Amino acid sequence: MAEWRNGGMAEAGSFAEKVKQQADIVRMVGEYVRLKKTGKDFSGLCPFHQEKTPSFTVSPIKQIFYCFGCGKGGDVYNFVMAMEKCEFPEAVKLIAEKCGIAIPRSKERSPEERKENQRRALLVELHREAQTFFVKQLEGMLEGKAARAYLEDRGLDEDSIARFGIGYAPSGGDALLRHLKHKYDEKLLAESGLVSRDQSAGRLFDRFRRRITFPISNDSGKIVAFGARALGDDMPKYLNSPETPIYSKSNVLYHMDRAKEGIRRQDFAILVEGYMDAIAVARAGISNVVASCGTSLAESQIKLLGRFTRRVIVNYDPDTAGQTATERSLSLLLEQDFEVRVLALPPLGNKKADPDLFIREMGADAYLKLLKEAPPYVDYLIARARQMDLTTGEGKLRAVNFLLPYVQKIPNRLLRSEWASRIAQHLRLDEPVLRAALSKAAADRHSEVRTQPELVGRAAKPVERRLIRMLADAEGFRLELAKQLQNARLYHGLETEKILSALVIASLSGQPVEATEVGALLEDRDRRLLFEILFEEANEPTWEEAMSCIEALQHRQAERELADVQRSIEANPPGQELRGLLEKKQELMRRLAAAR
Ligand SMILES: [Zn+2]
Repeated sequence: MAEWRNGGMAEAGSFAEKVKQQADIVRMVGEYVRLKKTGKDFSGLCPFHQEKTPSFTVSPIKQIFYCFGCGKGGDVYNFVMAMEKCEFPEAVKLIAEKCGIAIPRSKERSPEERKENQRRALLVELHREAQTFFVKQLEGMLEGKAARAYLEDRGLDEDSIARFGIGYAPSGGDALLRHLKHKYDEKLLAESGLVSRDQSAGRLFDRFRRRITFPISNDSGKIVAFGARALGDDMPKYLNSPETPIYSKSNVLYHMDRAKEGIRRQDFAILVEGYMDAIAVARAGISNVVASCGTSLAESQIKLLGRFTRRVIVNYDPDTAGQTATERSLSLLLEQDFEVRVLALPPLGNKKADPDLFIREMGADAYLKLLKEAPPYVDYLIARARQMDLTTGEGKLRAVNFLLPYVQKIPNRLLRSEWASRIAQHLRLDEPVLRAALSKAAADRHSEVRTQPELVGRAAKPVERRLIRMLADAEGFRLELAKQLQNARLYHGLETEKILSALVIASLSGQPVEATEVGALLEDRDRRLLFEILFEEANEPTWEEAMSCIEALQHRQAERELADVQRSIEANPPGQELRGLLEKKQELMRRLAAAR
């Protein structure tokens, strides 16, 4: 557990500690996990293992999290490191940024790194200027008139054009280049992807010409690329920015920056193919829509989506490419344990309808109604399979083979077998061979998600649990309590010896005790027990209670000693030694009687 070990690095007085104090773990975790208030803590579905009922808990008071299912736990840094698969320094930076804390100029940062960051900032600035330029072209220029007419024809009024930042790239071939080249060097212009280099002559020219432009923002709202649709019959119809230092198409979902609030609130997202579709749906008042932007959905896009919801309605184009994209996306979404529904829009007359066309012709209400009725993906797939020829055994086999991979991707075994019987029923599969193939697929799953590790369930005595909790919580008398435990060696030989010992040592330092740091010193099973105890319901600790716990331990210590003495006596030692043992026994029995 590397990310665990790094936990204690927020040293006192460091920048990391300052960030940790200002970052609210509930808010940070809430960016990735839907949390519900339960008592004084928050709980949700664990992002580190597959589960149906929440065992993932966050404590706002202690600023720690713990999963009772898989045992992951720690502070806000451990969480972000595990989620983002990053190292400690990156996690500090990320959290600082999210909290709006200025990051001090680090002396360690290499000159190359600094240069790279500057270039990236320049690229973002360049995109902002290109955006202003494109918007102006659409507004003022003669050429922009035709573009405006096209947009009006698509039902986009001025408000929408402004709202989605739609612009126009003129046909000249170097208009944007001329606009930008006074300010940015050629290398940066070429790196931006907005300007391309002529292979033979080495001359620069605009990538987008005679195209309507759509700014593509990352999920924090910075324009990092453009999508562009040909105004005439130029090919390709849609052309996007290439991959650049600030843009990777598999990491960005169009409209995510504006959709995320709605997605979180409504706990589902609508996934469409292109920006025109996303715009049409958003204009219809449905804000929780994102577009995969022509490309089929990538795993990192699904991860991005998964930060806000686990429920998706896929509404791709009804053409063959759209169907293929739908089916590919389904596989990926199912693997990530999303709950998926599919909206396949009915044809309008003899035209196949994408969301944009459908909303234009039938209105937002009609779309919303279909959206609400969108069937689970399995029904969609069965409907697709039923379009195949099912009159022959061969045809049925083809249909089953089409469906099997999806069945196998469902992480939940019960669901898998439920779908298998549903498929058999719908495809009228009486053949035992096909039924057997289906039930086998339902029973085993190649990429089986690792099973939930067994719960710790160790029998730490209530007294030990209480002492652990007091050492962690009791600011007022922690040091005194630690001293008492240490002097009488009271925790030696206990089930929880290692936990108590780590806590006692931390307390004796006189510094505040950080559960995460103590946990980092322990073996996994002890660390898990510590976290479970920290999340138990508990009253304010009092000194009287601490003393009674100490007495209980003293009592137990005496009992153990008594048992030892008794064993030695029974071994029948020589007279002198036996007398000593008998005296010791008397004394221990007096002590135990007095304590009762
Ligand atoms: Zn878990």
